Amino acid sequence: MQPAFGVRRLVAALSLAQFFPALEGEPPGEPFARRVRCGAGTDADSQSRPTPAWLPKPSNCTRVPSSLAFGKPVGKVTDQMSKAPVSKRDFVAEHVRGIPRSGIRDFFEVVQSMENVVSLGIGEPGFTTPWHIREAAIYALERGKTGYTSNFGLLKLRRAISRYVTENFHVTYDPATEILVTVGVSEALDIALRAIINPGDEILYHEPCYVSYHPSVTLAHGVAKAIQTRPENNFALRAADLAAAITPRSKALLLNFPTNPTGATLTGAEIEQIARVCIDNDLLVLTDEIYSELTFTGTHHSIAAVPGMKERTIFLHGFSKAFAMTGFRIGYVCAPPTLTEAMLRIHQYSMLCASIIAQEAAIEALDHGRNEMEMMREQYLLRRNFIVQSFNEMGLKCHLPVGSFYSFPDIRSTGLSSKEFSVKLLEQERVAMVPGTAFGPSGEGHVRASFASAMSDIEKAIERTARFVKTL
Ligand code: PMP
Repeated sequence: MQPAFGVRRLVAALSLAQFFPALEGEPPGEPFARRVRCGAGTDADSQSRPTPAWLPKPSNCTRVPSSLAFGKPVGKVTDQMSKAPVSKRDFVAEHVRGIPRSGIRDFFEVVQSMENVVSLGIGEPGFTTPWHIREAAIYALERGKTGYTSNFGLLKLRRAISRYVTENFHVTYDPATEILVTVGVSEALDIALRAIINPGDEILYHEPCYVSYHPSVTLAHGVAKAIQTRPENNFALRAADLAAAITPRSKALLLNFPTNPTGATLTGAEIEQIARVCIDNDLLVLTDEIYSELTFTGTHHSIAAVPGMKERTIFLHGFSKAFAMTGFRIGYVCAPPTLTEAMLRIHQYSMLCASIIAQEAAIEALDHGRNEMEMMREQYLLRRNFIVQSFNEMGLKCHLPVGSFYSFPDIRSTGLSSKEFSVKLLEQERVAMVPGTAFGPSGEGHVRASFASAMSDIEKAIERTARFVKTL
């Protein structure tokens, strides 16, 4: 494993050590870890971390009367207001009213209300963020890194992103003008769409796809247009299907390879064909490559690296999947300066910046996180092989997902719809898999089973699912 600390941090940690005596129970092999205890501590806590001199001792604190701190209730006005007529106006914007709630969320609300459920439904790593990355976040807090950063994100992080993207995706972005640190790929996607869409512009995307694409386009006043991908092509997007879907209103293509939920990837040749269609039709491309590190065979290719494409591509990436950092909410977007500037304007007035603590952790992930990332990928690969083989053995045809951590078995042989299959499996055997239709109508006939969960859970879920299938 790479050392978690550089020399400067080591020196800083040593100088801090004189103020904070060594604590017991630190994770093994991490001698400089500090456990920060907040709020009212036990005696043992206060011994290990004395209250700094500049903070008033709890007993000396004067309690601020709540009316002073927050203002008194505005009694008379409230009385009059309670008699005011109830509004009949619908305050919710029209384009928001039509947006359905996420199928996954609805399904998991039911799952959470049940006991003894084994869930293969969650779209996040079954691993906790590697320790040295968590430690970098803790260390950032210890150094008092609690403020805003540049709207673009820390320059040090943008430089690390630039190096990482050049090394792994073979396209180079200028940290000063072409990289923006965001609150996950979720924010990156939102600001990218809002930066480019004029009302009515068509955004093409391949389906089945990540649940947020269609609503995100709608929220940005665009028209989301799905291109169906098919199991017989392993859910890869065919250039001919793209070409057939383009109209004069089409402005951009949204790509996600490896794909959530199908695990589909594209070969270099397939990407070049898609790039050709985009250039010929003057389309912009948004490419969400959040699962790229979780490619199990072959090489991941980014469309941004195809000659002539960088100028017309917005590259979205983040730390949630490869570095198991979903809760840190950190990602980034890379694009030519004019587009980056447009996205910055939205980002700076809506989000301002990503959390500084998450940004510090992200630097550590990029600088020293490769070993753990590869170890996690190895584990996902073992789990993928097991789950795919098991589905096929129980008669549910399952293609081999080349990337991501999702399997997408075909359940049509059972005669059930994907929703019926998921609900019955949950009711009968307490196993949660997401109905394929949560990822768009073309997900019908499939369910999504994540293999990011622990192997023991996967084994249990498979055993129960096989029993369920036999009853049909
Ligand atoms: N894109 C895809 C394809 C995803 O599957 C997800 C999360 N499941 C996201 C983006 C959102 O990622 P983040 O945590 O970086 O916001």
